[in-house]
This record gives sequence, C-alpha cells and structure tokens, in this order.
Amino acid sequence: MSDKIERFAELLRGSKRAVFFGGAGVSTESGVKDYRSEDGIYNAVREYGRPPEEILSRSFFEADPETFYDFYYKYFLSEHPSPNKAHIALAELENMGILSAVVTQNIDGLHQAAGSKNVYELHGTASRYHCVKCGKACGRDIPTAAKGKIPRCECGGIFKPDVVLYEEQLNEDTLMGAIKAISEADLMIVGGTSLAVYPAAGLLRYYRGGETVLINRSETPWDSRAGLVFREKIGEVLSEAVKRI
Ligand SMILES: [Zn+2]
Repeated sequence: MSDKIERFAELLRGSKRAVFFGGAGVSTESGVKDYRSEDGIYNAVREYGRPPEEILSRSFFEADPETFYDFYYKYFLSEHPSPNKAHIALAELENMGILSAVVTQNIDGLHQAAGSKNVYELHGTASRYHCVKCGKACGRDIPTAAKGKIPRCECGGIFKPDVVLYEEQLNEDTLMGAIKAISEADLMIVGGTSLAVYPAAGLLRYYRGGETVLINRSETPWDSRAGLVFREKIGEVLSEAVKRI
C-alpha cells in the first residue's frame, strides 16, 4: 500500500480545504459498535423483538421511553471509548491547515475528543440531552447516573438525547454547514462508511473539487469515482499518510 499512501500524502500536501466524510467504521477501531455488521447494533437488538428503526424512532421514544432507554443505555452509553488513530490523524490535518471540516454520521463525539473543531454531526450527538418539557440541557452525566432508567429533569420532563431519531429531521444548520464545506472542498476523503444511508450519503453530490480518496473495508457505490481506494484499516491509512506529509 506504500505507493498509494505516498500519493495520498501528496494530495494532502496540495490541499487547503479537504473535507472528511465518515461513518461508523471510523469508530469501530475505538470499540464502538457499528449498526449493520454481523455483531453490530442491528443484529443485537433482536432481543427486543422490534426493529432498531422502531426503537430508535421519535414516536417510540414518546410511547415507551423505558424500553428506549434500556436499549439506548446498553448500546450508546455503556462504553467510554477513546479516539483512535483515525480521529487523531484528522485532528492533526485540521491543525496543519489542510482539513477544513469533518462531516460525520457518528454520534459518539470522538472527533471532538481528539481535538477536531469544525465537526458537523449529521445525526446529532449522544453527548448532549434536552428536557422535552422545559428544554433544559445536560451532558452524559445525568443519563449515565440513571443507569438504564429514564433520566428525568427537575421539572418532571424526560431528557432526550440530541441524537436524530428516525422520523426526525436532520438539523438544518448542521446540514447547511456540511453542504457548504463539501461544495468548497478541494479534496474529499470518505472513510468508514458504506454510503448506504441517505440523505447523508447524498451530500457527496455537492463535491465539485478534484480527487476523492475512499477508505472502507468493503465496496461502496462511490469506489469507481475515487482516484484512490483503500481497503485497509482507516486508522492505519490516515496516520501513515499524515506521517508522510
Ligand atoms: Zn425540564
């Protein structure tokens, strides 16, 4: 892979507004479960006898917050993952003035934990919560302390994670910011995503720049449009490329 890494480093050296677009595969190397793979969340959720799209929907959250939080706690709050090589390399690229933004489908906050500043979290974040009744905000501490029970506000309302649930719209400001960054990008790096989820994946159509670099374990619909395709671990690829800049 070393020739390809050299080429990737060369593209990075020539870039001032690269954008990284990433998905679950970026965080699996941190031990965060992804959704669709064999031991992912979508398979594990079968014990609830309902599809995850149903449990993770706004109407289900309102109808049965107890089951919602039982599930949510198990899969989104039980681990305290740390950023991996991929998150760290991307934060370095931003620091070097090469990367202008990270657009992510992940909700784990690991890009910010690694030091990235301009991060568009398309599906929201599991690091923040809002009371559905009075709007009060809190961090992970209150839901974590609730240990799978419904986290409640002093006003009696329920805290809802700032995660975009099924039936909910993506946040408009986040979406607009991501579109702007992608449409102004001079290099697109796509990683850890099968590009199966819309509308998030449709954002790539706004890219008008030159090369696309794709890093994913399996094939994606965008492989043929990418000048460089890596099947290796994303943390390895990004950190090796950054070393060679
Ligand atoms: Zn409240």
